[in-house]
Amino acid sequence: MCVRSCFRSPRLQWVWRTAFLKHTQRRHQGSHRWTHLGGSTYRAVIFDMGGVLIPSPGRVAAEWEVQNRIPSGTILKALMEGGENGPWMRFMRAEITAEGFLREFGRLCSEMLKTTSVPVDSFFSLLTSERVAKQFPVMTEAITQIRAKGLQTAVLSNNFYLPNQKSFLPLDRKQFDVIVESCMEGICKPDPRIYKLCLERLGLQPSESIFLDDLGPNLKEAARLGIHTIKVNDPETAVKELEALLGFTLRVGVPNTRPVKKTMEIPKDSLQKYLKDLLGIQTTGPLELLQFDHGQSNPTYYIRLANRDLVLRKKPPGTLLPSAHAIEREFRIMKALANAGVPVPNVLDLCEDSSVIGTPFYVMEYCPGLIYKDPSLPGLEPSHRRAIYTAMNTVLCKIHSVDLQAVGLEDYGKQGDYIPRQVRTWVKQYRASETSTIPAMERLIEWLPLHLPRQQRTTVVHGDFRLDNLVFHPEEPEVLAVLDWELSTLGDPLADVAYSCLAHYLPSSFPVLRGINDCDLTQLGIPAAEEYFRMYCLQMGLPPTENWNFYMAFSFFRVAAILQGVYKRSLTGQASSTYAEQTGKLTEFVSNLAWDFAVKEGFRVFKEMPFTNPLTRSYHTWARPQSQWCPTGSRSYSSVPEASPAHTSRGGLVISPESLSPPVRELYHRLKHFMEQRVYPAEPELQSHQASAARWSPSPLIEDLKEKAKAEGLWNLFLPLEADPEKKYGAGLTNVEYAHLCELMGTSLYAPEVCNCSAPDTGNMELLVRYGTEAQKARWLIPLLEGKARSCFAMTEPQVASSDATNIEASIREEDSFYVINGHKWWITGILDPRCQLCVFMGKTDPHAPRHRQQSVLLVPMDTPGIKIIRPLTVYGLEDAPGGHGEVRFEHVRVPKENMVLGPGRGFEIAQGRLGPGRIHHCMRLIGFSERALALMKARVKSRVAFGKPLVEQGTVLADIAQSRVEIEQARLLVLRAAHLMDLAGNKAAALDIAMIKMVAPSMASRVIDRAIQAFGAAGLSSDYPLAQFFTWARALRFADGPDEVHRATVAKLELKHRI
Ligand SMILES: Cc1cc2nc3c(=O)[nH]c(=O)nc-3n(C[C@H](O)[C@H](O)[C@H](O)COP(=O)(O)OP(=O)(O)OC[C@H]3O[C@@H](n4cnc5c(N)ncnc54)[C@H](O)[C@@H]3O)c2cc1C
Repeated sequence: MCVRSCFRSPRLQWVWRTAFLKHTQRRHQGSHRWTHLGGSTYRAVIFDMGGVLIPSPGRVAAEWEVQNRIPSGTILKALMEGGENGPWMRFMRAEITAEGFLREFGRLCSEMLKTTSVPVDSFFSLLTSERVAKQFPVMTEAITQIRAKGLQTAVLSNNFYLPNQKSFLPLDRKQFDVIVESCMEGICKPDPRIYKLCLERLGLQPSESIFLDDLGPNLKEAARLGIHTIKVNDPETAVKELEALLGFTLRVGVPNTRPVKKTMEIPKDSLQKYLKDLLGIQTTGPLELLQFDHGQSNPTYYIRLANRDLVLRKKPPGTLLPSAHAIEREFRIMKALANAGVPVPNVLDLCEDSSVIGTPFYVMEYCPGLIYKDPSLPGLEPSHRRAIYTAMNTVLCKIHSVDLQAVGLEDYGKQGDYIPRQVRTWVKQYRASETSTIPAMERLIEWLPLHLPRQQRTTVVHGDFRLDNLVFHPEEPEVLAVLDWELSTLGDPLADVAYSCLAHYLPSSFPVLRGINDCDLTQLGIPAAEEYFRMYCLQMGLPPTENWNFYMAFSFFRVAAILQGVYKRSLTGQASSTYAEQTGKLTEFVSNLAWDFAVKEGFRVFKEMPFTNPLTRSYHTWARPQSQWCPTGSRSYSSVPEASPAHTSRGGLVISPESLSPPVRELYHRLKHFMEQRVYPAEPELQSHQASAARWSPSPLIEDLKEKAKAEGLWNLFLPLEADPEKKYGAGLTNVEYAHLCELMGTSLYAPEVCNCSAPDTGNMELLVRYGTEAQKARWLIPLLEGKARSCFAMTEPQVASSDATNIEASIREEDSFYVINGHKWWITGILDPRCQLCVFMGKTDPHAPRHRQQSVLLVPMDTPGIKIIRPLTVYGLEDAPGGHGEVRFEHVRVPKENMVLGPGRGFEIAQGRLGPGRIHHCMRLIGFSERALALMKARVKSRVAFGKPLVEQGTVLADIAQSRVEIEQARLLVLRAAHLMDLAGNKAAALDIAMIKMVAPSMASRVIDRAIQAFGAAGLSSDYPLAQFFTWARALRFADGPDEVHRATVAKLELKHRI
């Protein structure tokens, strides 16, 4: 059926007719024939390289420009600049070196963009990288066929020398009889000499060859010389044109197949006998057997026997997970759907007798057509891509519209409650193949049942509906067959829709399921996931789906569970794919993606919550009944709201310490008592130590107070439960719980250090907990947690605007088994402290990498030679001894390689993780500063009389008090809301609230403290009260925590993104 429909295609008929006409015309014209060439007069095909055999520089440039936020078209424009005498053409003729080219080219780009520097090095690296510079498979196949027919092949390329003095030719040279490279000849296309050189080496006349190039001027010159030309816009179409000219097919293999893997062989003799009986064939030639690349789960084979093209699908060998690999069901559903007009392959027979080939199997007809394995659909026009995705959507609607009763599928699965059952099934499957604890999976296992959709329709669901399970018509955007029904059942169709959008969120480098999240979908013409969902709802006549993030979370969770199964099988040697072993690591990656969607859904639910009187609500996470889904012994995250479906769950916000859970409330009161009894009374002595000559040594009183705090259990309260779920390192408080305690500590400048909760140690400790290796934790985290050591974080540099961390210039260079760092840093808080043993250093390991992959974080022991502290900086004259804020040079500082955190290029990721909760700690403390300032102000104005009445009776003073109270309450609510969201939906979902409070808290505190200072009179400016210092730090935090403007920009960006 499918073969016939291919030949019915008008386009294909045209191709064949053209070939036929050329053939007959030539015969009539009496031109000589090369009998082995099937009628063609051509004797060679000459290929250009970039844009024909491998991606063109223009296409690579477009990708790079998007990644580096460079205006589109800049690179291409700069490449063309200067024409024959521009740097690009001179580079092609080897008149300048790679370094020289990059220098000139970089300058050109900078001039065009009017910026200081454009990282053209990274463009060049991308252009010449193995990932990008890969020959198109369709061309490889074509070249093989051309040579098999006895024609010669050549490359005629404008190329260049790489810095290693080798020419850039990422091709297998054996494929070509002649290779002509511009950099070797010193001449470039379209100079006629280079074409003549190529023909000379081929020993041919111009008319005997066909030349393929993507650039008009190159083709024009070739045509002028009498060479036949093909303009290459996309390789697939070009190959079709070439086929038409040559008169023979260039694509003969069965696509997406390979020889059968040794471990996957099946007995051919008994299979052949079975097929002869089935098909009623008397005599046959040998049975040809290939294995499809598809079929990760159920091995799938292509069979050719007596001119019949068949496909066999079987269960994998060995012990299988219950209910998996049900090929009998696949057979049944395909048979039924064919009757309902859903395009499926024509199934022939189900053989449940394991004695034939070792396992049950079924046979169907092979359906030729195109399977798009790459969801970015390379080589197609944007309109064609869109049409392909639309066709995919349409066929899904067709599946979901099948009348179950009419096709006899009412009992194909249970009706209703599909998602809860699926969640249970996949949790079970996951548990059955679990090899280690994956935190995101644990969270999802708890979260999913709590957010189940309220309403579900029941239809046939495919269960693995994605682009590469569809066979498309070779010419038209039409689905000829939907493959792989292994996971089909009756269920909620939205699960299929979400599943078919997985690729939208996966990177193109994802090994088992290629993604498009790094592609510009608008430019490609591919509908975004949201649009795809909308398209579906429209076609099905449904209202828009609000909770589709839930469906995405569930889909990714399911993929993670499948990957885990494949991984487990790979460990026992049963997986049918070469990718199987890699899948172990992928499970974790995918589960994190799933969790991201859970977070987004949590955020949506949170935004929809009606705000009832917060005082009447309390959020007692420990009181939540144990979820029936939560397996015994699995972790419980106290930030998850109560065990009820999403729409009824209402996690309340604890806005007062009195609403905290009893143990945390008790902790709060213990801390309050400690502050009153120990900390406030010690402040004058601590203050005078800071003003004394001994200030650069730690105060013995601080050390004494630290011991006391530790003894009272008021130690390491900061580490969020989410980062330390087993409470291995900290008190295991949620962010909201800590907010109340942190505010209290913030009422004194000394309390955070006394309780081992002060910056920058807290951020560094969290960094080590989240990302450190066990060895790094043993060496650095433990002394820090014990309060024996202190640390600093070195990012800011005097020579660059450091609020944009991509500007950081300090270099981290590999040398043997060491990293060598060089750089100039300043404002490094804590670096002068004699107890400071660790510097968490941020610098560039790869200036050519994409912007956010250039930075890395290294753990630098402070006693490493080469660290030169230049001076302590002051903030409004305050030195903040003994830690201070240092200016420092790092000169050839050698650090062992194992001191790298997470790995090269992960610095951004780490910096973000480090400063998420850490930054809102500053806000929590600023509320504490403000409360203390207001308390001092109130006491002061009650005790002083001016102009005949106490200051407190002055209207302006009253107005100031009222204003301060209001502003503190507003800011506190925002702090608590951010903390609550971090607990409820995760740090990423709370990004807007984190940015809002960071924007609000320091200036709010500055205003409140300033009013207090004003009410105090001149005394407010002195060191007799903490007000002046509070004010200084509140002002400094408008930079130290990232400039206000940066937070404002984030808020505005998110506002525009999410609320238009
Ligand atoms: C007390 C204190 C302690 C510090 N501790 C540390 C530390 O321990 N480790 C460390 O690495 N650094 C530390 N810093 C440095 C701090 O992180 C930086 O000062 C901050 O990131 C800003 O960088 P910058 O000073 O280079 O200002 P720049 O980046 O030069 O910015 C200057 C100004 O430009 C404007 N601006 C910047 N971006 C935008 C934008 N997007 N929109 C509009 N305007 C913008 C703002 O007004 C900003 O204040 C500390 C700073 C202080 C004051």
